Amino acid sequence: MTSLVQVVGFGPASLGLPVSADRLGIIETLFRQGMLFVDSHSCWEHIEESRLHYLIPSNSIGADFICGIYPFGTFAASLQSPAYTRIAAQGREPVPLQWVTGLLRNLQDNLLQRMQNYPRCAVRLGKRVRNVCQQRDGTFISFDDGGEPIAQTKCVVLATGGAEKTLPERSTNPVLLSNAVLRGHFGDLENWINEGRRILIRGGSHSGYSVAYVLLRHFGNRLAARQVAIAARNTKLYYRSMLDACADNYCFQGLDLYPETFEVNKFNGLRGAAKDVHQSIVRGKEIRVYLQANASAPISANDVVVHALGYRTREVPFMNAEGAPIPLRKQGGMVCVSSHSEVLQENGAPLKGVFGLGLGYAPVDARGERQVGLNFFHGDHAERIVRRIQDFAVHEDLSRSSIDARI
Ligand SMILES: Cc1cc2nc3c(=O)[nH]c(=O)nc-3n(C[C@H](O)[C@H](O)[C@H](O)COP(=O)(O)OP(=O)(O)OC[C@H]3O[C@@H](n4cnc5c(N)ncnc54)[C@H](O)[C@@H]3O)c2cc1C
Repeated sequence: MTSLVQVVGFGPASLGLPVSADRLGIIETLFRQGMLFVDSHSCWEHIEESRLHYLIPSNSIGADFICGIYPFGTFAASLQSPAYTRIAAQGREPVPLQWVTGLLRNLQDNLLQRMQNYPRCAVRLGKRVRNVCQQRDGTFISFDDGGEPIAQTKCVVLATGGAEKTLPERSTNPVLLSNAVLRGHFGDLENWINEGRRILIRGGSHSGYSVAYVLLRHFGNRLAARQVAIAARNTKLYYRSMLDACADNYCFQGLDLYPETFEVNKFNGLRGAAKDVHQSIVRGKEIRVYLQANASAPISANDVVVHALGYRTREVPFMNAEGAPIPLRKQGGMVCVSSHSEVLQENGAPLKGVFGLGLGYAPVDARGERQVGLNFFHGDHAERIVRRIQDFAVHEDLSRSSIDARI
């Protein structure tokens, strides 16, 4: 039976689809005509662990995580949850990301409860979508690793997230990924620190400075002066207003200003704990960490390297009805989407009925910056997708009502 939509990935971004559909008043259509989530994690515990269990405060404000939830619909009960209440109380301040995980779990539970009443809705765990094949009638069939079909739907939403980028390093240098360190998976880091080995963080993004923040908090008194280096170029800082930036003697250009709000470096500027770490280093208050401007400077055989180099899309290959690959357009390791969040083919044309949502598919705005954040994934981005999906559903609804009328 062909359902309306399958969402590949049941991570934080995927919840944006039902959250937005609820806000737009069309979640019933999705429920009735079929909404299926497929995730490679084999159980709920693994889904839970993979969420935002980072030892850092959010880089977005509390309000960003809750502003998309419609208070009188499917997720109304979430407004009573402790996670929601605590986040709401923070208003325009950052919140611990563990709270956000609590909120996401609550949204997920409310969704699962509602979906129980609809036979064409389900979450299928333990299924990695190996590829998706477009049929002659325009529908899509997803296949698992064993080549077995998972679902046939009119639309596909790819919400597979991103895998961390890495660089080849010499075999003598242990390499850790920022994602692991930020989750508190330190491996042998404590021993290496005690041995006095230098920790070189490659990448001066939010993740890079956040790694330094976590190291300082967890191993602070064991770290010697200049034991941690951040290899970073052009670090930008976020300010709520031009006035704040000027008061801090921060040098910015017109292009750094977000035209609607006049915030400085709204999307690509360090904020919160990551910004505090940067400020204390450049002001000479933090001597255990230093900045290495030349990111490609040689490293010693003894260094421990942490990669914080950003993310690339966890890709899902597409094929046409003849089994030939449908190549997708990519930029910097990310699959490109249109301004309507449709996935683009290599030739630039949208792949009709296929959408991208979340970390691996963040659209680039007019200023060339990627819009990453749950406020987008549960806000504008998901809303655009839901509106398009509705187009695929309308015809079926109309034809059904006309059949009903004839009967
Ligand atoms: C350190 C860090 C801090 C962040 N802080 C913030 C913040 O403060 N505020 C904010 O708004 N955002 C933040 N983000 C950005 C973003 O909100 C998170 O990264 C978020 O987890 C992205 O969700 P996602 O669903 O796109 O991806 P993921 O969390 O990666 O979920 C993708 C899911 O897809 C599944 N999957 C992948 N491939 C397949 C396949 N082929 N078949 C089936 N299933 C598949 C995976 O198992 C996974 O469950 C942060 C990101 C990081 C890394």
